[in-house]
Amino acid sequence: MDFNFTTENDTEKETKVKDLENVVIVGSGPAGLTAALYAARASLEPLLIEGMPSGGQLMDTTEVENFPGYPESVKGPELIDDIKSQAEKFETRFITENVEKFELTSNPKILHLAGGKKIKTRSVILATGASARYLGLDSEKKLKGFGVSACAVCDGFFFKDQDVCVVGGGDSALEDAMYLTKFARKVHVIHRRDKLRASRIMQDRALKMDKIEFIWDSVVEKVLGDPKGDGVTGVKIKNVKNGKTSKLKVTGMFVAIGHNPNTKGMENQLELDKKRFIKTKGKSTLTNLPGVFAAGDVMDPVYQQAVTAAGSGCKAALDVEKFLMETK
Ligand code: NAP
Repeated sequence: MDFNFTTENDTEKETKVKDLENVVIVGSGPAGLTAALYAARASLEPLLIEGMPSGGQLMDTTEVENFPGYPESVKGPELIDDIKSQAEKFETRFITENVEKFELTSNPKILHLAGGKKIKTRSVILATGASARYLGLDSEKKLKGFGVSACAVCDGFFFKDQDVCVVGGGDSALEDAMYLTKFARKVHVIHRRDKLRASRIMQDRALKMDKIEFIWDSVVEKVLGDPKGDGVTGVKIKNVKNGKTSKLKVTGMFVAIGHNPNTKGMENQLELDKKRFIKTKGKSTLTNLPGVFAAGDVMDPVYQQAVTAAGSGCKAALDVEKFLMETK
């Protein structure tokens, strides 16, 4: 194979890049890594752009109990490491950088990396995942990093013996709340309805925990505190049924209200749905652009599981294989 230049990844290993790649995968969560594993086994010699931070949302997760093959559960980062080693075994090449600009309508497609390199490729699998959504309050924005967080695993440790709140009623909110009980004195879960969206098993566990208290039918109207002073000191809550407002003293607010797909820079080229997820055709991973495929949370507004992301990564690699054969 001809290689025209080399670039460095964070492990200082040289990554060889071809004049024209067969397939470049963008994203290193379960979707991207599984796509790489399948593409590599099909001898497509994939190049995977990991993005920074790499590994996707599983890197911020504690125990994963529902990924097949791990009866004793597995830590999120360990699971990512395992899939990555499997993709590496079949000689996937990795670059740990962000894609700054996508040229997806051209042929070949061109990916501009943050470090200035341009990568030309016959096909692309977009597996850029999704990022935590915030409430959108000015006070929340002001206090982000000063007590407001969307990552309990990253920041929970700082709230030892303190009172905190989690906003949301899905699996993420309950997972975060349970994780925070390791450190916090009390964890208040503030949910806008009186029924949780989370799975039954998570509800049963969380509802039994003494340290977790639920505040139902309520929304956060304002985060109180001063980023230059003590950070978050409380939240102003409104009960949506009776309109009453109250203040809750907490030093941390963890937002767990779902995720937005990472489609920035793709919007004027690819067909997206109303929530900005990439639209794919039927049961396939084909997008509206020939040679561009999408897998994982960036195209899945419904299931959003590690295992479904991995499954769609597999489908994307098979779709790419067929596309490359047909367009040779
Ligand atoms: P989700 O299931 O979409 O839940 C989001 C929660 O946030 C809902 O309870 C929603 O309220 C609430 N919410 C949304 N916007 C809000 C707003 N502006 N203000 C207040 N509350 C708001 O998201 P998720 O919990 O991140 O889960 C996403 C997917 O990942 C799900 O499929 C979930 O099963 C999966 N997941 C699985 C695990 C696990 O298996 N261990 C762990 C984490 C996530 P409503 O209920 O009223 O809509």
